[in-house]
Amino acid sequence: MAREFNVAIVGATGLVGQTMATVLKERRFPVKRMRFLASARSASLSLDWHGEAVPVEETAESSFAGVDIVLMSAGAEQSRQFAPAAAQAGAVVIDNSAAWRMEPEVPLVVPEVNPDDAQHHHGIIANPNCSTIQMVVALFPLHQVNPIRTIVVDTYQSVSGTGSAAVDELREQAHALLEQPAQSPMPSVYPYQIAFNVLPHIDSFETNGYSREELKMLNETRKIMHAPTINVSATTVRVPVFFAHSEAVHVEFTHPMSPEEAREILAKAPGVVVQDNPAALMYPMPVTAAGRDEVFVGRIRRSLAYPNSLHMWIVSDNIRKGAATNAVQIAELMVEKGWL
Ligand code: NAP
Repeated sequence: MAREFNVAIVGATGLVGQTMATVLKERRFPVKRMRFLASARSASLSLDWHGEAVPVEETAESSFAGVDIVLMSAGAEQSRQFAPAAAQAGAVVIDNSAAWRMEPEVPLVVPEVNPDDAQHHHGIIANPNCSTIQMVVALFPLHQVNPIRTIVVDTYQSVSGTGSAAVDELREQAHALLEQPAQSPMPSVYPYQIAFNVLPHIDSFETNGYSREELKMLNETRKIMHAPTINVSATTVRVPVFFAHSEAVHVEFTHPMSPEEAREILAKAPGVVVQDNPAALMYPMPVTAAGRDEVFVGRIRRSLAYPNSLHMWIVSDNIRKGAATNAVQIAELMVEKGWL
């Protein structure tokens, strides 16, 4: 009989944690026993698992005895506290936070790009940042044919990337402003109003003027693609969209690449869907990418400004491929290869 696994989701009540449970069910991951862990605030709740009400437990360092796989999505501070204890207890942790991503001994994995990195772990495997995942899924197949030198990317990131409180904040502000456009809603999750506004600010700012989110896109892309000299300059922007991040990407290759060649390569690339027919008004959008697991690419065109360069528009659901689906795919990879 095929092996089944004891799985725990830490952050099970959150947007990402709930989607992890959904994706595990959808993909029929072989779960023997499911445990749902969150903070003490949720300890009186239960969550559905195949029709059974499973109680939510408060996460503790002692929570992980007998657990084979931990999908962790409760923030960096919680990951720093609980991931080593889970690994010590013998589980493999697939961590969604930024806590471990740049540690040299921790693999940072996108299964379509660097699956073999997952083999060499010490109990913790990191899931990359959502904006980085969708960008490398689309760009790595092109990079294999024609090495990329430079990426300049501007993101249009949805509020679900900040968690369920931010989704509520956008909904409440939008309602309030439609009722009374003259008022200024009091922001809580973001420093300014997010409804009907755009914030050029994701994560904290560093002394070089870039935000930490922007530097994640540089450092994580280099690590995942094994391309230590690739240049990535990002401007990350929060927009009033609920689900799915969009990216306007300028890619400079070593040699010229035509849009036709790029479309041909991407049409065969794992996890990518080309939606590129502007004449028929076909291009990727957050509303059509939301709820899907693929990375959608369109508006592929030769740059008028830079030689050897293409521009493109990349959209993907940040909670699914950008977080939950990528984590479940890593778990599937570990099972398939016998690396657990
Ligand atoms: P969310 O909706 O705000 O949910 C947060 C979850 O963390 C809840 O289940 C919460 O439990 C739990 N939690 C908070 N404090 C805890 C504690 N002390 N101990 C145990 N659990 C605790 O946020 P989200 O959108 O699901 O995001 C969760 C994490 O994933 C964040 O770190 C976020 O940065 C990351 N994320 C990663 C990606 C990616 O890797 N690509 C994408 C999106 C988000 P309660 O309900 O009990 O408070």
